[in-house]
Amino acid sequence: MKKYIIVGGGLSGVLLANVLLKRGISFQGLESSKQVGGEFHFSEFRVHQDSSVGFLKDLLGYVEWNKVDEQPQERKKGEWKAKEDDFIDEERPFLGNPFYHPCGDFDRLVKLIMDPVEQSFLTEKNIDRIDLDKKTVFCKDGTEFYFECIAWCSDLRALLSAVNLSSKVNLKKARKNEDFHGGIHLEMKLSKSLTPFLNSMIFPFRYKDHKLRALGLRDLSAIPDENAHRIQWLVFLERELSEDREEVAKVIRALKRELQKEFPDIKNSLLKEKIIFQPKMNSFTPFEVKGLELFPGVFYVGPEVHLADTMANGSPLDLTIDNCKSFQMGLTRPTTTVESA
Ligand SMILES: Cc1cc2nc3c(=O)[nH]c(=O)nc-3n(C[C@H](O)[C@H](O)[C@H](O)COP(=O)(O)OP(=O)(O)OC[C@H]3O[C@@H](n4cnc5c(N)ncnc54)[C@H](O)[C@@H]3O)c2cc1C
Repeated sequence: MKKYIIVGGGLSGVLLANVLLKRGISFQGLESSKQVGGEFHFSEFRVHQDSSVGFLKDLLGYVEWNKVDEQPQERKKGEWKAKEDDFIDEERPFLGNPFYHPCGDFDRLVKLIMDPVEQSFLTEKNIDRIDLDKKTVFCKDGTEFYFECIAWCSDLRALLSAVNLSSKVNLKKARKNEDFHGGIHLEMKLSKSLTPFLNSMIFPFRYKDHKLRALGLRDLSAIPDENAHRIQWLVFLERELSEDREEVAKVIRALKRELQKEFPDIKNSLLKEKIIFQPKMNSFTPFEVKGLELFPGVFYVGPEVHLADTMANGSPLDLTIDNCKSFQMGLTRPTTTVESA
């Protein structure tokens, strides 16, 4: 049997791990941080494609999904108005319509995905080099692993630098969004809901000369044993702002001030608050490839690419699922090296 390595224990890595587990294929997962989960722990779980719901039901047996078919709402001239589709690419997965979300509790879903595979990942294994001839991955701590097949489920640029062959893959489309660099998540747990809207809210605010906007993502899954509501405010920041931590802190204060004005009840109903700064937000514009096998024996399985024959406009999770499916199909076929576009 082939020696499979999964690099990256974020959502893409653990989903693929579940696919391999279900197929009875053993693998070694390698995760650079201290815990498996990546962005997953503070992300939403929205998918846009019916086929993604089908895939997740088959894989996880998680059957309760709600469909939300409601336009996102934008705060404009003192009123909330339905927003038509002219979003930037980064925003699309959060604003797209209609979408499905799991209607049970989110933590249960995380457990369903994590528990079967978490033990198969070694943590604090940061891959910084792949030797394609020796079929070996090298970690920063000096350990190395032989592979016959790698599923790279992490940052695509890191893969290109690990194989040191970046010129072979065309990253033009991904580059388009480099202006957006970092982002803020302000997660609030409230004793009552702020609005009746189910889809996201777009909340523009000003910070100095910057016209910013926060996306308010309501977590529609139930919080077990608690009469609480969760909302996440997500702000994309240009490079200039995101690289200065003091400025970032001020942006957060400006956002909170403006939210307080808009929702006077927020102060009294706030049960808990968490702020996460993400120095690098993934671009959600996938670029097109002819095959997932970007280098011999090295496959990329995540939301940053889409195959020429699949849709490019789903959420990141839709894209990851499409790529997991293609990888899975390849397991039954002899692999061939396909040049990327
Ligand atoms: C607030 C928020 C809401 C979101 N909502 C949705 C949604 O509703 N629907 C949706 O589809 N998407 C959503 N997303 C996006 C989604 O969470 C991400 O696209 C997804 O989690 C990415 O998963 P990933 O596994 O590809 O990457 P990551 O989560 O970034 O995981 C990559 C993992 O690889 C590890 N790693 C990195 N480099 C190395 C290395 N060199 N060696 C080993 N390991 C390495 C990292 O530590 C990390 O654990 C949301 C994101 C945010 C922030």
